[in-house]
Amino acid sequence: MSRVYNFGAGPAVLPEPVLEQAGREMLDWQGSGMSVMEMSHRGKEFIGIAAAAEADLRDLLAVPANYKVLFLQGGATLQFAAVPMNLLRGRRSADYVNTGEWSKKAIKEARRYCTVNIAASSEDKNFSYAPALTGWKLDPNAAYVHACTNETIGGVEFHWVPDTGSVPLVADMSSHLLSRPIDVSKYGLIYAGAQKNIGPAGLTLVIVRDDLLGQALPSTPSVLDYKAQAEADSMLNTPATYAVYIAGLVFQWLKQRGGLQTMGELNRAKAQLLYDFLDQTEFYYSPVAKSDRSLMNVPFRLRNDALDEEFLKQTKQRGLTQLKGHRSVGGMRASIYNAMPIDGVRALVDFMREFQAKHG
Ligand SMILES: *Cc1c(COP(=O)(O)O)cnc(C)c1O
Repeated sequence: MSRVYNFGAGPAVLPEPVLEQAGREMLDWQGSGMSVMEMSHRGKEFIGIAAAAEADLRDLLAVPANYKVLFLQGGATLQFAAVPMNLLRGRRSADYVNTGEWSKKAIKEARRYCTVNIAASSEDKNFSYAPALTGWKLDPNAAYVHACTNETIGGVEFHWVPDTGSVPLVADMSSHLLSRPIDVSKYGLIYAGAQKNIGPAGLTLVIVRDDLLGQALPSTPSVLDYKAQAEADSMLNTPATYAVYIAGLVFQWLKQRGGLQTMGELNRAKAQLLYDFLDQTEFYYSPVAKSDRSLMNVPFRLRNDALDEEFLKQTKQRGLTQLKGHRSVGGMRASIYNAMPIDGVRALVDFMREFQAKHG
């Protein structure tokens, strides 16, 4: 067996010990005589798995008691609609910050339900930075303020939390939740599709302050109603049971490694290795403002883009895979989530140096 260093943005690399444990437990989960995939979601085994996953996630993120944690389906994309459906609460508009491709998608979907005020945008510089709060045009009557705090495609991350006063802050954290500690109490709602930094596709996490629940639009489907899901322990209907189980193993792995403080330091070291290299060469460059560079998704370009194809071909031969940038922006992108070891980043930088020596 040989495994590659997988730099894909998502579905993405998972921790090897998690995959190994899942493999060992595939046919018989802890003496139950069943795979987790074969269990009833109403049975005591799976209810235990789901409860442990929630408890470990709460522990990792220090989620305050007045927040609900939901394990849902439909991806972050469904949350683009669920957020306005649940959080408009009789108001007619919401503020959105536009920092790239995922912000744009969230904005487009929200426009089906309310007036969207673009409070700030980085479109003027091709989405290469996070706009400073001083320039945001916030509406005190907005239902909420939405931001994508890590733009997976553009590689722009908020390294600060916008203060939106009494208007709840909603964050799409799909590609950086669990990469470092955060203060959950600063947010009204956080959501994240699991397949980037958390677990398999099919699971979406929502962490929501409980005073925001209970005022969903009447037309909201019940599986999208946060209050209904919270009351049913996210089991209004059959949840993504196997994805919940794997995410639960990832949470245990994170705790064993020392939690989010430790992960944050490791992730910083990994990203620095790559950015330091990019900054000291003329051959490659990062298109993102230094202060706003993502520690999870690192887009970069070759100054001579005629070499892109050769670069991708050779990285693949070396077992460094999925480095092609998103189709909407081109270039390269290395996603270096929690499960990417620092040796993977070293191998990439070593290769990039060699490639430069040959072609520079
Ligand atoms: C991947 C991603 C999404 C979309 O996730 P789906 O699960 O495919 O709906 C939304 N927002 C961000 C920031 C993402 O990285």
